[in-house]
Amino acid sequence: MNKVILKKGRDWSVRKHHPWIFSGAVESGAAGQGETVEVVSAEGETLGYGWFSPASQIRVRMVSFDATRVPDEKFVTDLVASSVGRRADFFVDCSTNGVRLVNAESDGLPGLVADLYNGHVVCQFTSAGAEAWKATVAKALMTYVPGCQSVSERADIDVRKKEGLPYAEELVVLEGVQPPALIEIVEGPIRYYVDPRKGHKTGFYLDQRDARAAVGTLAAARDVLNCFCYTGGFGLYAATCGAAHVTQVDISHEAIELAKKNAALTATNPDQTVKNFSTQTVFEHVEADVFKYLRQCRDEGKTFDLIVLDPPKFAESKAQVMKAARGYKDINLLAMKLLRLGGILATVSCSGAMTTELFDKVLAEAAADAHKDFQMIARTRQGADHPVALAFPEGLYLKGVILRSMS
Ligand code: SAH
Repeated sequence: MNKVILKKGRDWSVRKHHPWIFSGAVESGAAGQGETVEVVSAEGETLGYGWFSPASQIRVRMVSFDATRVPDEKFVTDLVASSVGRRADFFVDCSTNGVRLVNAESDGLPGLVADLYNGHVVCQFTSAGAEAWKATVAKALMTYVPGCQSVSERADIDVRKKEGLPYAEELVVLEGVQPPALIEIVEGPIRYYVDPRKGHKTGFYLDQRDARAAVGTLAAARDVLNCFCYTGGFGLYAATCGAAHVTQVDISHEAIELAKKNAALTATNPDQTVKNFSTQTVFEHVEADVFKYLRQCRDEGKTFDLIVLDPPKFAESKAQVMKAARGYKDINLLAMKLLRLGGILATVSCSGAMTTELFDKVLAEAAADAHKDFQMIARTRQGADHPVALAFPEGLYLKGVILRSMS
């Protein structure tokens, strides 16, 4: 096995079990794409083993911090099995059958994401090492996920290019059957169709499950504007909790069409509370650019009781953070102005590079410019199936704040 020797004094992050070794920390050593390497300190101590990525700034991703445990096929299979095992509560609870099974670095499997949609698993492999172990991972998921019917891969993500991995449009089945064109999942009172082939990420934003429920509890009798709605999640939750009116806005035609279908599907849920929603809540679906739509609402003098802002990632890297901050300030300022007294703003940043502190600062500046006072009533974050390893704070990418307007 090839060795990667670290520069003197650059071993401390590995010793704290941070999984990334940047190219600048490497003194010497190379290997093929995705090969397992032994990671050695400048003093010659073996610190563990990682996956080598010659094309990435993150040169090695650690998978074993134990000098005596070389990550072979059994080791990787066990990592997948234990990651699935940590989701046991979800399988027992049954209130949802859309669950993230493997959350990459934070589950000890760098660059591997695996999402379960009602018996069908969809994966993304974004590190050379995860790519190299694809067959093992797929087999392990098929074996250890209860009731698993298929394991597929989506390779249509730009980060694969940074890793020197091929980009492919089409979903590829790795194990089991072809998943259906639309997979039906349950999330509490909501039923959604998930498109595993063309849907965003692996098909759905499972990470906002808890935030959607939190917003629902604040939605009774309210006039709700759900911006960047994708397939409708926050708005559907608000409706099941008795919202009077829900406006769903997204720029994507496909997303809006699926949001409409999801409203109809959820209305067929036998749960009585959900039946009420189909008769009480008035839905409006708008295919529009939120930046323009909010301005249009302002110009028309429209106001709302509850606004959700869940935009796509504005900052891909630290270099883009200031530009992203301007984008967040723009939409938050506009939304704040559209809120009625006592209104709620549930606002989110999914940019990993945007810190909680900076996001709070942007919101405070937006409030000042809107000449309104707000109180923070909750913070939201990615759900328990998207854990954050303590040694890997970068894993916390989804930061939400729920604000109430006091003026
Ligand atoms: N809230 C959603 C997830 C939102 S993801 C949920 O709970 O499932 C971000 C969404 O923003 C995507 O659906 C994307 O199509 C949409 N989007 C991106 N740019 C946009 C823009 N300028 N205006 C409106 N929607 C946009």
